[in-house]
Amino acid sequence: MLSKRMQQLKPSPTLALAAKAKELKSQGKDVISLTVGEPDWPTYGAAKEAGIQAIHENKTTYTPAAGIPELRKAVAQLIGKQLAMEVSPQQVTIGSGAKFIIYTAFTALLDPGDEVIVPSPYWVSYPTMVELAGGTPKIVECDAQTHFKLSGPLLKSAITEKTKILLLNSPSNPTGAEYSHAELDALAEVLKEYPNLWIVSDDIYNQLSFHPGGLSPHLLHKNPELKERCISINGMSKAYAMTGWRMGWAVGPEAVIKAMASFQSQTTGAPCSISQWASLAAITETADEVKESLVALQERRELFIKLLNGVPGLQVFPPQGAFYLWVKVQDWLGKTYKGKTLVDSKQLSQILLEDVLLAVVPGAEFGTEGYLRLSFAASPEDLKRASERLANFQQQLS
Ligand code: PMP
Ligand code: GLU
Repeated sequence: MLSKRMQQLKPSPTLALAAKAKELKSQGKDVISLTVGEPDWPTYGAAKEAGIQAIHENKTTYTPAAGIPELRKAVAQLIGKQLAMEVSPQQVTIGSGAKFIIYTAFTALLDPGDEVIVPSPYWVSYPTMVELAGGTPKIVECDAQTHFKLSGPLLKSAITEKTKILLLNSPSNPTGAEYSHAELDALAEVLKEYPNLWIVSDDIYNQLSFHPGGLSPHLLHKNPELKERCISINGMSKAYAMTGWRMGWAVGPEAVIKAMASFQSQTTGAPCSISQWASLAAITETADEVKESLVALQERRELFIKLLNGVPGLQVFPPQGAFYLWVKVQDWLGKTYKGKTLVDSKQLSQILLEDVLLAVVPGAEFGTEGYLRLSFAASPEDLKRASERLANFQQQLS
């Protein structure tokens, strides 16, 4: 019955694990879920009020497929400021979440057989989205020495005549690694040798950066000439704590943005009107709240790193942005727990969920074995309890 494409499709593992943790909680189990990457604090007041007001004012009809002009303009100004370049509203399309926008960008650019370079560890959905859009993911493994980042030589060695897109994600989900200007320049040097290669830059965590200034370096900062073939993706989910409002956008050359808007008009129709008015208020009125959240997040980062560093056998890679700890558990693999040998990250996560009531995401889902991803967008209390559970678990290993 199902198409071949659908037969092979697996649900997003992060969402599936989060759902499983919720289900166990609803059965009365004291599960701590550090799975799905979403802020545990509420959407800011101004955005909520604007959403409510939009409903009262009957702003509840279809909008243009690329979004309301007011929001396209606000996004153009926000991203123009972040990238230090002119961005026009025509270079912006608003969509139903960054996830769908990334898929839309792939659909706009890929023909069958085209390759997309996906540095690994990668966010769980990237390879599947490339495949759904008809392309071929080319996974490039990046190791711990470079904090899991792509280097110029590695990029160059991965490029073939079929390469169409380089996918960048900084700060990264799952590692929290952020590319420096120098590292981005090294990639830009290679990209300049290949004028037909596009860049899809997933910047969703760029305002959750722990270095002074709180904004991540971007490829276009020092290499503005690449803007003719760069699509920058962002949205409201992370910095504005609006995951459920499903708001994302792409900024790029007008021709590709127009094609993406046409695709949106034929698929989702238009993004949610209420969420768009709420997003407009969030972008224009909640910069202080974004900064405050970043400070709170930084405190949790320090706390969780300290706590996990105290658990024997875990190696933490301190993140420079986003809200994940990428933790090496290689030393635990091969050991025995209650008579069972720990073989890989999936089995370990399963045991942690069932026996310790701690839900985390196995590294294998991000393309890299021997690691776990733990979200620290959780209360300090839960972070402490989670580390206690891990410490207790470790003591039972032999
Ligand atoms: N990119 C990355 C790297 C993410 O972690 C997420 C989180 N879901 C997204 C894109 C998509 O965000 P959303 O669809 O909620 O806007
Ligand atoms: N980006 C989040 C995560 O990685 C959301 C989950 C998803 O959309 O798959 O946990």
